Amino acid sequence: TNDQQKLGVALVGLGRYSEGQLGPALTETQHCYLAGVVSGSEEKRRQWQARYDLPGSNLYHYDTLEAMAGNPAIDIVYVVLPNALHAEYVIRAAKAGKHVICEKPMATSVEECRQMIHACREAGVLLSMGYRLHFDPFNKEMMRLGQDEIFGKVKRIVADDSMTIEKEEWRLDGALAGGGPLMNNGVYCVQAALFVTGELPVAIRAEFSPKTRPDLFRTVEEGIQWEMEFASGKKAICESSYSKDGNLLRVTAERGWFELDPAYEYKGLKGRTSQGPMEFPAIRQQAAQLDDFASCVKRSGASRVPGEMGMRDVEIMMAIYESARKGGERVT
Ligand code: NDP
Repeated sequence: TNDQQKLGVALVGLGRYSEGQLGPALTETQHCYLAGVVSGSEEKRRQWQARYDLPGSNLYHYDTLEAMAGNPAIDIVYVVLPNALHAEYVIRAAKAGKHVICEKPMATSVEECRQMIHACREAGVLLSMGYRLHFDPFNKEMMRLGQDEIFGKVKRIVADDSMTIEKEEWRLDGALAGGGPLMNNGVYCVQAALFVTGELPVAIRAEFSPKTRPDLFRTVEEGIQWEMEFASGKKAICESSYSKDGNLLRVTAERGWFELDPAYEYKGLKGRTSQGPMEFPAIRQQAAQLDDFASCVKRSGASRVPGEMGMRDVEIMMAIYESARKGGERVT
C-alpha cells in the first residue's frame, strides 16, 4: 500500500454504533474508508451495500469471515459486537491477516485479552482499541492539564458516566456484556482517571448500588461506585449507573480545577477550568480515531490506544468487581 492510498475497513456487527457513528465517520476519513461489512443480517448487508456503494465481494456473514484472508481490499477489521464476542472475532480477524480495532470494553476477562494480544502478535497485525476520547480535543486537554501539572499536582478526580436503560438488550445480559454499567460506561471513568494522572491505581475499593429494578438488572449490576488510589496520594472517586444520567469528569489540583461536563459524549462536550472556559473546534472523534489507526498501519507504528491498554483497563475493572463482591474490601 502506498501512503496516498486509503486503507479498506470492514465493520463487524451493524448495530447502533456502526450505523450511527462509524459508517458516517468512514466517509470523512483521509487514510481509510468503508470497504466492507460483516453482518448476520442479509437485509442489513444489502442496505449497507447500497448506502456505501460496497462491492458484493466485500459483504460477509459471520461464518464466512475467514474468506477475507484472500481479499486485499480489506486491510482493517473493526469489531463492533456485544462485548463477549470481541475476543473470538478479533482473533479470527487476526488469523485472516487483518489489522484489528476492537470496541470497548476489550473483552469480558483478562485471559481473553491476553489471547487477543497474542493472536495479533503471532499474525503480525496491529491491534487497537476504539478509545475515541484519546482523539478528542477536550479530553486531550484534560490529559495535558493533569499530566503536565498545569494547575499543580492533581489531588482528586470525580468521574461519573451513567445512562438510563429501561428495557431489555444485550447490555443487561451478563453473559454477553460481561457486566453492567462498569463494563459499558465505567471504562471511560477508569480511562479518564488514568489519563489525567498518567498513573496506575495501587488500591481500589468498590460497592454495588442497591437495585431499584431487580426485574431488569438480573445478571448485571444496576450501579457501582468505586474509589481508586494512586501511589502519589491522588484519589479518583467514580460512579457508573444504568438508572440515572451522568457525564462528568472533574479534577481538583493544588492551584485550581478543570472539568468536562459532558465529558464522554461524541459531541457537544463542554470544558471549564478555574481560569475560564475551554474552547475547541468540533471534530468527529471516530474519524480522528480511525485515521490515526490507519496511519499507524501505513507506517507500521503502534497505536496510542493498543490492546495492552484495553487489557490494563479490563484488569482494573475486574479488581473493581472483586472489591464490590467482597463488600467494599480494599483490593491492591
Ligand atoms: P447494538 O446492540 O446496537 O449492535 C450490536 C450488533 O452486533 C447487532 O446489531 C448485530 O449486528 C451484532 N450481533 C451479533 N451477535 C449478537 C447478539 N448475540 N446479540 C446482539 N447483537 C449481536 O450494540 P452497539 O452497536 O451499541 O455496541 C456494539 C459494541 O460497540 C459494544 O462493544 C459497545 O460497547 C461498543 N460501543 C462503543 C461506543 C463508543 O463510544 N466507543 C458506543 C456504543 C457502543 P448484525 O445484525 O449486523 O449481525
